[in-house]
Amino acid sequence: MRNGLSKDLIARVLGGAPKYTLDELEAKFPERGLGDGAFVTRFAPSPTGFMHVGNLYGALIDYKLAQQSGGVFMLRIEDTDTKREVQGAVDVVKNAMANFGLKYNNDEKYGPYYQSKRKDIYHSVAAYLLEKGLAYPCFLKPEEMDEIRKKQNAAGFATGIYGEWARDRDLTEEEIIAHLDNGEIPSIRLYSTGNPNNRIYCKDAVRGSISFPENNEDLVLIKSNDGLPTYHFAHLVDDHFMRTTHVVRGEEWLPSLPLHYQLFRTMGWTPPIYIHTSTLDKIDAETGKQRKMSKRKDPECNVAFFLQAGWPTEAVIEYLGNILASGYEEAKMKGMVKNYWEFEMKPKKIPMSGALFDMKKLEWWAKEYIATLPVPDLVKFVVDWAKEYGNEDNKKQVENIDYLTSVLSIERDNIKRIRKDFITWQQTLDEVSYFWDFLFVPNKEYEYNRDVLREFLATYNAADDKDTWWNKIVAVAEKYNIKPGEAAMNLRVAMTGRTNTPDLYSIMSVLGEKRVCNRIEMIL
Ligand code: GLU
Repeated sequence: MRNGLSKDLIARVLGGAPKYTLDELEAKFPERGLGDGAFVTRFAPSPTGFMHVGNLYGALIDYKLAQQSGGVFMLRIEDTDTKREVQGAVDVVKNAMANFGLKYNNDEKYGPYYQSKRKDIYHSVAAYLLEKGLAYPCFLKPEEMDEIRKKQNAAGFATGIYGEWARDRDLTEEEIIAHLDNGEIPSIRLYSTGNPNNRIYCKDAVRGSISFPENNEDLVLIKSNDGLPTYHFAHLVDDHFMRTTHVVRGEEWLPSLPLHYQLFRTMGWTPPIYIHTSTLDKIDAETGKQRKMSKRKDPECNVAFFLQAGWPTEAVIEYLGNILASGYEEAKMKGMVKNYWEFEMKPKKIPMSGALFDMKKLEWWAKEYIATLPVPDLVKFVVDWAKEYGNEDNKKQVENIDYLTSVLSIERDNIKRIRKDFITWQQTLDEVSYFWDFLFVPNKEYEYNRDVLREFLATYNAADDKDTWWNKIVAVAEKYNIKPGEAAMNLRVAMTGRTNTPDLYSIMSVLGEKRVCNRIEMIL
């Protein structure tokens, strides 16, 4: 501890008198009074314009913990890095949240939820620390800090502003005033009394107790250039006054944990429970080795990718949910739960390292999910996707909703034998593209038995029921001495251009008489 600053000096240092006392803040943001065991969580992205699938994973944990415990899930925008501001970046986040069903509840009472709008609150807490001698104004300029870093590197010391390197830590009031009179604007630094030879014990809900050397760095709490807080200070202040019970964040924050414990202790506040999530990895296609997903190499790193490519968002959630809470797949397959929202997730089971995100596995979840959709829902998803993200062809495919509905109804009436070849909305439209003449690509390689096709056409009647239709195929096959399956294959390829399709009778019924006749005649 050092000598605290006088109220007048604090006001000069912070560029204005603090708006609140600590007691006033406590009263303004009271305990939430939720039921026992209710989790208060928040998703706290920095708006960069890019949402990583790992962020979605974290947000899902936040949402789920709050949802299943009758708690509160907040969205807090960490926009304190004014140098990195990106237009429309918050919309990217909000759009993803809406699409993936992660509803947040930003009760005004605990707001504002943009850190850039909470300056008064940060400054009030900083004022308290300055008054108590737990923080101090630092007038080091960037060049001076560079100089210090060079010296530290040369001498083999840890870099940073600490101990005797912290030039301004014990400035007197007169010295501070002299700097201010000189027009200098300070940053506010923590007056650290930590000793790296001691250890501090911190808790992570998944990893258990972890000890770290105590922090001795006088970390910046309030930046000099814009008066906004650093991540560390904003985390302390916001998660205390928003009454967050559980902080879910990436494991890259684990090394900052001792500092955060120190900050909470300095304030005499109880730290939240931390859950540090592992990065999402993938198996590298070339090396076969597990590695972090990469923004540069992996399009699926970007949440927007799933929306653009028409992945069912619910299936993405289920797959992420299965990664973070093993046991979900089994519960779903056994019919114990209908979807991820009904599943009780145990925070202790969240993987500590190397969670694998595998697009092949996601395909399986997507196929299963689409297979359970009632046709009208499937149609709606496909149409909505095509209108927002589809190409011109896709848009034409969804013009006639009745026809699209018949196309997508094929092999979906028998619950035990529902087709499972639809993966994304985009791929669904590609998969059934042959139903539209402008997309149909006749198969020119196939060696058709033209006699069979001609003969079938002569007897074809669009009104035939399935048995009559089949008997006609059998009759033609007998006449030309081939197997009925082979005769049917000729028809299948003529109708669709493909050798592998769902039920041929259904396909021909949906295509209708005109298309069926045209396609056979085209080959003849
Ligand atoms: N803005 C921080 C990030 O994006 C938030 C970390 C946290 O959740 O506390 O990494």
